[in-house]
Amino acid sequence: MSADIIDGKAFAATLRARVAGLARAFEDAAGRKAGLAVVLVGEDPASQVYVRSKGKQTIEAGMASFEHRFPAETAEADLLALVESLNVDSAVDGILVQLPLPAHMDEQKVISAISPDKDVDGFHVINAGRLAVGQPGFVPCTPLGCLMLLKDKLGSLSGLNAVIIGRSNIVGKPMAQLLLGESCTVTIAHSRTRDMPEVVRRADIVVAAVGRAEMVKADWLKPGACVIDVGINRVAAAEEGKTRLVGDVDFAGALDVAGSITPVPGGVGPMTIAVLLRNALVAAYRNAGLQLADGAI
Ligand code: NDP
Repeated sequence: MSADIIDGKAFAATLRARVAGLARAFEDAAGRKAGLAVVLVGEDPASQVYVRSKGKQTIEAGMASFEHRFPAETAEADLLALVESLNVDSAVDGILVQLPLPAHMDEQKVISAISPDKDVDGFHVINAGRLAVGQPGFVPCTPLGCLMLLKDKLGSLSGLNAVIIGRSNIVGKPMAQLLLGESCTVTIAHSRTRDMPEVVRRADIVVAAVGRAEMVKADWLKPGACVIDVGINRVAAAEEGKTRLVGDVDFAGALDVAGSITPVPGGVGPMTIAVLLRNALVAAYRNAGLQLADGAI
């Protein structure tokens, strides 16, 4: 058996095109572009790449991109003051503060300062609470992207056993809430889980969000399982001095056992920014009091 490879890159391109169509409709109706503000503090190289990419894709989707960059030594109060000004700026529908923040800043405090109605990352406790109780809000981009891929591949997820490895606030926990919302039987595994291979073997759906290169082995998987690999790990490549990206799942081995699997790169990764744009557009419609047709996006 050779697993179907889930093409997150293609799915993300389709989603971005849908967002772009709706962004044009928004502009016609509201008389302004939907706007996304991205705030970067410090010079973390990975964050710089993400922020550049987010800005570029925001503009390509026909939305306004507002970028705010601060040096690493910026005082927390100055960042909070910017967030406050973005909260009341009617040209800004979504606010994203790129994490991680420098060590002298309190991430939770900064996230809590973002208006929940502009919190397109879905990290504010109000949005985490809305997700937990099933109210509309903003859902973190990576797990929502994973859910879109799963539903596209499997259709109804009702009754399926889902095992999520990882319990972070940005991936594992919201993923669990989303899958529970789809009526899966959900298990959240983590570093203290006993007999991980046995736990994973029960899963029709495996979501690996750990950050450990190729930790999930092929013989942990139930034959035919759908495997979503969130992990991004840089390892040494065969060629000396070069590196390559791998996921949390032994991809080559899993191909023989899984029914379908996301590759790394080209699986979950491209979905994250596409869903961010989607969330920003949803925020724009809500903030402008305009109706977005059910299931439009
Ligand atoms: P965190 O480090 O916040 O969480 C990792 C989780 O994995 C924790 O819950 C931890 O358990 C668990 N874990 C660690 N070691 C083990 C182990 N040996 N066995 C079982 N569980 C373990 O990571 P994130 O959730 O932020 O990210 C996870 C991965 O996903 C990373 O590789 C990250 O780069 C990637 N990522 C990719 C994104 C994308 O766009 N594709 C977006 C976000 C993340 P415990 O809680 O017990 O410590």
